[in-house]
Amino acid sequence: MPEQIFAVLEHADGAPAASAYEAVSLCLTMLEKTEAMIIGVAVGPGAEQAAHAVSTKTGIDVIAASTDSPYNSEVMRHVLGHLAQMHKPAYIVAGGTSQGMDYAPGLAVRLGGSCVSGVRGVEKSEKCLGFVREVQAGKLHALVMAASRPTVLLAQPGVFSGRQWHPSSPGKVETVDIDPYMRRTRNVDVQPRETGKSDLNGAEVIVAVGRGIGKPENLELAEKLATLFNRSAVAGSRPVCDSGWLAYLKQVGITGQTVAPKLYIAAGISGASQHVSAMAGSGFVVSINNDPQAAIFNVSDVCIVEDLVKFIPLLVKSLNTISN
Ligand code: FAD
Repeated sequence: MPEQIFAVLEHADGAPAASAYEAVSLCLTMLEKTEAMIIGVAVGPGAEQAAHAVSTKTGIDVIAASTDSPYNSEVMRHVLGHLAQMHKPAYIVAGGTSQGMDYAPGLAVRLGGSCVSGVRGVEKSEKCLGFVREVQAGKLHALVMAASRPTVLLAQPGVFSGRQWHPSSPGKVETVDIDPYMRRTRNVDVQPRETGKSDLNGAEVIVAVGRGIGKPENLELAEKLATLFNRSAVAGSRPVCDSGWLAYLKQVGITGQTVAPKLYIAAGISGASQHVSAMAGSGFVVSINNDPQAAIFNVSDVCIVEDLVKFIPLLVKSLNTISN
């Protein structure tokens, strides 16, 4: 009997999230190295609808566990823990989203297993699988072997996207009722995210600033550089938006916008995977960073090791001279 791998299918009221397919895609990557059977698991309101959508698109069998509670990490740990005790999967794979990061470590603890986040690749060594993840803000790759099972894995967002699905037939969907239980937490309120049209989507040139910008007054440097290009916009990394220096609509990253402009200028951005995976589709990347080891340089076409506060005014001056 082959081992089982659970793929946890994140969804919003029945609409599968991109991370659901990324979780299945990581499972299929694991199947290239080990013999196993994939079972999708959808939890929450609309689970059955999500299960049908994913089983049709990917061909995997899916268990749908409907609950009346909107997302809650305690509910996820309870339902997934219950199903894992019944099916004994060797691995439980989920997307490395805010939700995945929220419930996965606790689920591993509950099941007496291990948790590996930020998985970017799979390697087979001797008898067990090893998982590649970034460490040191993307400067190094580590190969991690889990010491206990089940192993809960979080797929690094963006890494396992883009798979073409050609199932020979749709998978089966099984609906289950999980016993009610006493909850210690409940959702009090759900606040919708700031909405509105971001100018990042249509921009051909994005000047993105990170914590290296130092202070909000220095944003003017990025704005001056951006105005030299048609269809341009200024964006920021998460710390810049968390500090309130730019609106969240301007944040590039897994918890912000995914962008693919013709030119991406990254100034004072270290290149953490949560940022890079959302801009890696850019046509040409120019990075300015005073640390020659900055991980952003690994995904850059032009690497400028300079203090951005000194360099950007010189660049603006040179570009102005050329255009006049
Ligand atoms: P830092 O990592 O602090 O880097 C600052 C860089 O500026 C350094 O490389 C430094 O060498 C350089 N620098 C400093 N001074 C200068 C100077 N004068 N001139 C030139 N260079 C200079 N991050 C995102 O961006 N977007 C996301 O959507 C996102 N989502 C996340 C989701 C989760 C679940 C988690 C855990 C993290 C997320 N993060 C996200 C955070 C991410 O891990 C990094 O912490 C963040 O991207 C770092 O931002 P930064 O590069 O601006 O800052």
